[in-house]
Amino acid sequence: MAGYTTLFAQISDMINIEAHKQTEYAYELCKDLHQNPELSFQEIETAARMAAELGKAGFEVTKNFSGNSVVGVLKNGEGPVILLRTDMDALPVKEKTGLDFSSDKTSTDKDGNEVSVMHACGHDIHMSVWTGTIRTLATLKDYWKGTLVVIAQQAEEFSGGAGEAIEAGLFRKFPVPDYAMAYHINPELEAGKIGLVKGPVFAGVKSVEITVYGKGGHGAYPEKCIDPVVIASRIVLNLQTIVSREVSPLDPVVVTVGSIHGGTQANIIPDQVKMKLTLRYYKDEVIEKVISAIKRISDAAAVMAGLDEELLPDVVVSPVETPPVLNDPELSGKINDFAARIIGEDSIEEVSPAMVGEDFGKYGRTPERVPICLIWLGSTNPELMASLRAEGKEPFPLHSPFLNPDYQNTIETGIRVMAGNVIGIAGK
Ligand code: ZN
Repeated sequence: MAGYTTLFAQISDMINIEAHKQTEYAYELCKDLHQNPELSFQEIETAARMAAELGKAGFEVTKNFSGNSVVGVLKNGEGPVILLRTDMDALPVKEKTGLDFSSDKTSTDKDGNEVSVMHACGHDIHMSVWTGTIRTLATLKDYWKGTLVVIAQQAEEFSGGAGEAIEAGLFRKFPVPDYAMAYHINPELEAGKIGLVKGPVFAGVKSVEITVYGKGGHGAYPEKCIDPVVIASRIVLNLQTIVSREVSPLDPVVVTVGSIHGGTQANIIPDQVKMKLTLRYYKDEVIEKVISAIKRISDAAAVMAGLDEELLPDVVVSPVETPPVLNDPELSGKINDFAARIIGEDSIEEVSPAMVGEDFGKYGRTPERVPICLIWLGSTNPELMASLRAEGKEPFPLHSPFLNPDYQNTIETGIRVMAGNVIGIAGK
């Protein structure tokens, strides 16, 4: 390791020079991807482009590996197996940035609606950095040994892509990684910086649907009915005590009722109300406790209203789930050291975990227990950030129609750091 580190210090300049050369190419690619966004599970053209880039860089390419995902392998002697992942999907958002490479694309979503499409979550940047990194590493092949397994993954926004790739045998049909890394852009950090969390970084996500039953009838005869609107209302309020009263204040959890629907008009008491919840968590044992509390509170509200056993609420936990992203502390520490040599200690920020979800966590949750690290990639122009902060304002967040990253600077930093990580880990 000491030998690697010394050599690494000597070649970091070379990594920076090569990454700089690849940035122009990656930026042109990014503009093209930005103008041609595709929704989750529809990444046909995007996947073809990623496959072509892998081919050009000398990778063995497997197309349509679970849906649109593309896998590339580059064998470069005995050494560690490193997985680099990019996502590919865009969002149903109408772009309002005014950029000269804005998207005016529309597409049909899964419900059959015609929607505008935009790369409003920076996945265009992720793909460009991934491509630039691969090209840099292919050029600097003499300075590292090992195997790169890279995946351009479909449907991150729906949390389907990572799980499907793993189920399709990502770790059976291709070498099992010793390490897996990915980026997500972060508008709250300046371009030129990265953000590291040496532990839990993104929350786990579960969705729950509750159907509350009642006995419907005329709104003027409440005594002849059991009103599910009242039961549902009690449930919503009592759910608030799970986080405040049943879970340790040191365990972050979110219980949000995001949707509630019942009834048709004012003078009819309906016979059911449907609610949709999103849950966010970091620990499995905590979320199990939360789910059993949701069931207990729902049942109790129904019993209190006088409903019999067969009319207790249905509480259904969605089988599609996003586990928490738990960065491996050791890998994160290595990345910190390598990145410090490439972009300087001052450009690495230690950031707090977030309650949003990311399906990258699934790569670390298989029986192989691959150490993973998801790195935040700062994306807001530093001067813009300074002037916004001076006015007490925030940059536009992810998923905003105004999201406007500092493309070139973000891409170049991303390539430098990721190429540095790989050469740091697999350096000869
Ligand atoms: Zn995203």
